[in-house]
Parts: sequence; structure tokens; C-alpha cells
Amino acid sequence: MLETLHNIVQAVNTAPDLQQALHLIVTRVKQAIQCNVCSIYLTDDDNRANVLMASDGLRAESIGKVRLPIGRGLVGLVTERAESVNLADASLHPRYVRISDTGETHYRGFLGAPIIQNRRVLGVIVVRQQETREFNETEVTFIFTLAAQLAGAITYARASGELEKLIQGNHSINHFLNGRSGNTGVAIGQGVVTYRSSNLDAVPDHQTSDIDAECDRFRLAVEQVSIELRHLQENLDPRLPVEDRALFDALILMLNSDTLLNHTLERIQQGQWAPAALRQTIQTHARIFEDMEDAYLRERATDIRDLGRRILTQLQNEPSIRMDYPEHTILVGDEISAIQLAEVPQEKLVGVVSAQGSSSSHAAILARAIGVPAIMGVTNMPVGRMQNRALIIDGYRGRLYVEPLPSVREEYARLLNQERALSAEVEAMRGLSAETADGVHIPLYLNTGLINETGGPNQAEAEGIGLYRTELPFMIRDRFPSETEQMMNYKRVLEAFEPRPVILRTLDIGGDKSLSYFPVNEQNPFLGWRGIRISLQHPEIFLTQIRAMLQADLGHGNLQIMLPMITHVNEVDELLELIQRAHDELLEEKLPVTMPPIGVMIEVPSAVYQMAALARRVDFISIGTNDLTQYLLAVDRNNPRVADLYDDLHPAVLHALKQIVDHAKAMNKPVSVCGELAGNPLATVLMLGLGVDSLSMSAGSLLRVKWVLRSFSQVRARQLLAIALQKENAEQVRQFLERVLDNMGLGGLLRPGK
Ligand code: PEP
Ligand code: MG
Repeated sequence: MLETLHNIVQAVNTAPDLQQALHLIVTRVKQAIQCNVCSIYLTDDDNRANVLMASDGLRAESIGKVRLPIGRGLVGLVTERAESVNLADASLHPRYVRISDTGETHYRGFLGAPIIQNRRVLGVIVVRQQETREFNETEVTFIFTLAAQLAGAITYARASGELEKLIQGNHSINHFLNGRSGNTGVAIGQGVVTYRSSNLDAVPDHQTSDIDAECDRFRLAVEQVSIELRHLQENLDPRLPVEDRALFDALILMLNSDTLLNHTLERIQQGQWAPAALRQTIQTHARIFEDMEDAYLRERATDIRDLGRRILTQLQNEPSIRMDYPEHTILVGDEISAIQLAEVPQEKLVGVVSAQGSSSSHAAILARAIGVPAIMGVTNMPVGRMQNRALIIDGYRGRLYVEPLPSVREEYARLLNQERALSAEVEAMRGLSAETADGVHIPLYLNTGLINETGGPNQAEAEGIGLYRTELPFMIRDRFPSETEQMMNYKRVLEAFEPRPVILRTLDIGGDKSLSYFPVNEQNPFLGWRGIRISLQHPEIFLTQIRAMLQADLGHGNLQIMLPMITHVNEVDELLELIQRAHDELLEEKLPVTMPPIGVMIEVPSAVYQMAALARRVDFISIGTNDLTQYLLAVDRNNPRVADLYDDLHPAVLHALKQIVDHAKAMNKPVSVCGELAGNPLATVLMLGLGVDSLSMSAGSLLRVKWVLRSFSQVRARQLLAIALQKENAEQVRQFLERVLDNMGLGGLLRPGK
């Protein structure tokens, strides 16, 4: 049963559309359970009915037509209860209703299971038997498990608007996909899909204008893979068994087979570009093998997929493929990296949508840096089908509209205009001092480094850099950057901001930031080898970076160094020793470097409780609320499944902040916040009430935060903080703060429109 289940789910995930997926399920399930009927109903919430969408056993004409009101019948009972119903003789049940136009004869055995996602019933899968039959436990768990896995595929199809079209050809319903806000704002544009080169399944559809050139490109790629495989085969150790070596012959045969070559070429002839034509061929053929009962043959599916990936890589090596970015590009991806974002011309990028991640993922942080709306964690988005789609991002509510109706488009165009008006008001803050109504000056610094965002008006606006993430130069190379390369990079930043302070953070790789040439494969990367844990075990990497920083500062004197992910006090001791060593070595080399101020990030709960010991050792404290929230709440900051639980306004985070700031004050050490909370206008009054000395944020947030800052006095902020600290959950805190801002006429910063 497990194998059958696995095969069905695999096939459904790669089915070209919803109707085929559903058809496949009902036929396979009927076969597996050996029953008379298997049907799937999907729930039409607006009309409170279950619509028959696929059946093996009932009349074909009834598909799409039969609608069972939710309040009636056994299928409705499954929906209402959101639980399976298993009846040996359904006709005895008071809710039993016989529907004549499905061609039902008298069925007795009934087993129905709900298809649920995010607590919502999407539909019901039903198996039936003419005779009395109590479905046994294996059968019940089989249907139950299948139903649980189908929800994703169904929501996918719903997203593309297919479901509604299938139900009633009704286009008057608006589809939006839910995610989490990555950055507020509204964007109207066209989808451009970005994908990692190795991910064949994520390749988007795309029409080609030059079919012949595309066919040639494909043939050449196949030829190159053929050569590559021959090389691999020749280089194989001769001691290897013949069978292993023969595997390559089989692969080369498969590569040049009629199915792979001609089927792909046929698809290109129909206008599809080579990568997507390849994707379709590979998926179809892999599925045939995956469906086989024989384990050896099933394994061949992996070979086919591997061949597909190799051809894709060759296709991508072709310099001739250039992405065309429309005027209003909304970048869509399964995961979006800094590099992928940087590829889009900035003037064309209006928004970002990512299937993975949450509001504190680096893709969201980047979107805030660039100042475009973003939605994260749109888990059910059919990424491959988003190319060229008309899209609307509602970054306030985390909604993505796909092919929106004219009425929705008009509404959002209106909101966009209001946003522009608001931006003009925000712009009025430019050049004004970042001080409260009672004259307390809170310097606003910039978070930067993830993308090359130097220059621009916000550079002049910020009073320095509060967090320079140094990972990018490491991520875009295929080796560690040299001391000189790093030095040049840091020097450029120090120079651009001189005499304003620039806080360079030492390398914080691991977690969600990996280096291709230094792979760290772990089950729990955020709890693993990350940040200074790597630095301490690879002092040569750390020392090179520190040497580069100290030399970059020569002639400037505005450098400060910050250490991330501190968990133990002795880590700080060891790192300080290493910094001292780098400094002394440079002096010995006759370079007149000076020791910069050094600070630690407080972003792990253990550090909160060792504030006194840490503060004693360093010159300043900076609070990384992104990781602090992740570790305090035990919620992976990138995992969309638990994104609802990730909330930096959680009372536990606020109380931790209070404790950190109070300790820093007691130790007379300046304390700043550089996590995303610092740039959230909703939280500005809290920061002010806490008494933090400075705030560091993405460029796009500077003026908004300044606006809030200038609207409150510190005395008032302290009172508001005291009330917020009494709230028992994040939602209460949020509602309270929204009211506070609304009362000051600042609600436009939080939601679209006025
Ligand atoms: C943080 O964790 O709050 C932080 C600022 O660092 P990063 O987001 O780079 O992990
Ligand atoms: Mg961090």
C-alpha cells in the first residue's frame, strides 16, 4: 500500500493539470482498494456545495455537474465534521441521500475522507461498494494518508484558476494566494520566474520566437552531455564492476533515445523553449518508471531526472539565453537569493514573491533594502506557471493575485496612487533630524551588504551603517575571496560613509546562507555550524577577514566590528584574541592599523542571560531580533509552515529586549537594534520606550521610522511600552500599536490606503 501511495502522490505532483491529477487518483485508488467507485468532490465555499470533479465508477456526464449541498448527504457530513466517515451500510445512515443523476445504483459500503489544508476542507475523497462492506483499517489509513497529501496539489491548481474554471466556467471569482508579508506596499506587474539551475521542476514555461535555434540549442546540449558521460565512463576506476561501467552505456542510450530527443524536439516545435520542453519530457518519462512495481526499474526514474538536470545545465551554460525583464517585473521563485535579485535591473523590479521563506528571510530583507513589496511563503504557488502572468502583490496582507479581474486591478491601481501620495509625505522627512518630539536624538543607521545597494538618496539619510552583512562577496564567488578582494570591498564602504561609523559584521554563513565551495549539509542548519562557530574552527577564514577590515580602515578610522551568533562568553574571549592577533601582525608588517570598537550581537537566548558578562568584554551591543525571535520561539525563520508562529512582536521577544537594554544601560554600553523589528514603524514607539541608543534598518524603512520617531516623545513612548509589555500575545501587542499609530494619523504606514 505504501508503494502505491507513493506512486500516486508522485504522479499527482507532476500531472499537467488538476483534472488529469484527479482522474489519475480516482482510477488508481479504485484499483488499489478494489471497490466499485472512487470519486473526488471539491468544495465550492462560495456556494456551500461539494462538486463532483472526478470519478471512476459514476457516470462521466455527471462530472462537474453534480453538486451536493454541504448540509446534506454523507459527503457533506465529511465536510462538516472534517473527519473520515466509514459506514458498512450507508443506506442505514440518517444523512444518506441517493443522487440519481450520477448513475448511482444502491451503494452500501461508504468511506469518505476530507482533504484538508490549513484547517480548511478543500474537498472529499470517497470510495464506495455496492455490497455491504466495512473498509478495513489499512484501507481507511490509505485513503486518509492520500487525502492529507493531496491538499497541496489541489491548492496549486486552484491557484492557477483552473478549479473555478472547471467548476462553472465562472471567472467572476478572484484568486489570491496567501503568504506572509515580506515587505509592505502594493505592486502591479508581470511575473518573471527565477530558478536555481539544478531545479528542473521549477523551469517556467516560455514561448520561443526562434524555433530552429532552440532545436539546435537542445541538440547541442544533448551532444555535450553525451561527451560528458563518455568522459566520466573513461575516468572510472577500471576495478569497478562491469555492471557499473555499463550503466553509462545505458545512460547514453537513454539520452539519445527517440523518446527523450524527439519528444522534446516536438514540444519545441510547438513553440515551447528548450528548458521547459525538456522538463515536460523528463517528467512524463520519469513518471512512467516511477509507476513501475519493480524496484530496479523504478530507480531508473532517478537516472532520467539526472539526465534532465545535466542537459538543463548545458542549456544554461549557453550565453545566448538572456532574460527579458518587463517594465514592471515581479520576480517569482521557489527561493530567491541575493544573486537572483541582483540580476534584475533595479528600475524594472517592482515586487518579489517567494514560495519559501518568511518575513525575516534574507530575500525579504533584500526586498526591504531595495524598497519593493514582497510576499514570502506562498507555499502553494505553482511557480513554473507564473511566467508572464499578470500579478498583483498586496504586501500589507501577504496576498498575491494571479490574473486579477479588472475591478481588482482598478482597486489596487487606486491604492498604488495613494501609496505614492503617502511616499511624498514620507519624503518630507528627508534631511530632518531623527529626534523625538521631546528632543531625544536616536541615530538611524543602515543595514546593508546583502546586495550592492551603495549610493542612492538613503545613503545620505543614514547616520552610518549599523549592520554590514559581509556574506555577499563570499556567496558570489566559487572560492573564498582573497584578503585584498575583501579589503577593497570594505574600503569602498568605509570611504563612502566616512566619517560616519560603519559596523562590519564578521562572516555569518551557515543557516540559510551557504557557500557552494564550502558546503555544510546539516539536518538543523540554524542550530548547527553557523556564524562565529565556523570562524572559531577555521581561524584562517576569520583572521583573513579581520586583517582585510583593519587594513581597509587605514586612513578612515570609522570602522567598528561586530560578532554574530554569540552563545558562550568564551567565544568572545577567543575571537577578541584573534582580532588582537591580526592587529598585532599587521603592526609587525608595519601597517599602522588601530583597534576599532568591537561589539557583539545578542541574537541567541543564552546571550540574553549573560548580558553582564558579555557587555563587560565589548564596546557595544546590537540586538539581532530576527534570530532572537527564531531561537526564543523555536520557529525556523525560513519555514513557511510555521511562519504564522514567527512573530517579533511576541511578548517574550519584548521582555527579552527589555532585559537586554536594561543590562546594557547598567553596564554603560551603547545598545542598538539591527534586526528587522528596528525598521518596522509599528515597533518604533517600543524601541523608543526601551531607550535603545540607535536603530539600524533597511534603506526603505529609514524615512518611515523617522516619521514615527518625530511624532512621539520618549516620555509617552515609555508609557506605551509599559502597556505593551502587559499584553499576553503578539496579536494584542499588534492591535494596540496599530491603534496608537492610527490615533496619530500614521495608519497609512501600516495598510494600503488611508
Ligand atoms: C538578526 O538576526 O536579527 C540579524 C540582524 O542578522 P541576520 O538577519 O543577518 O541573521
Ligand atoms: Mg542574525
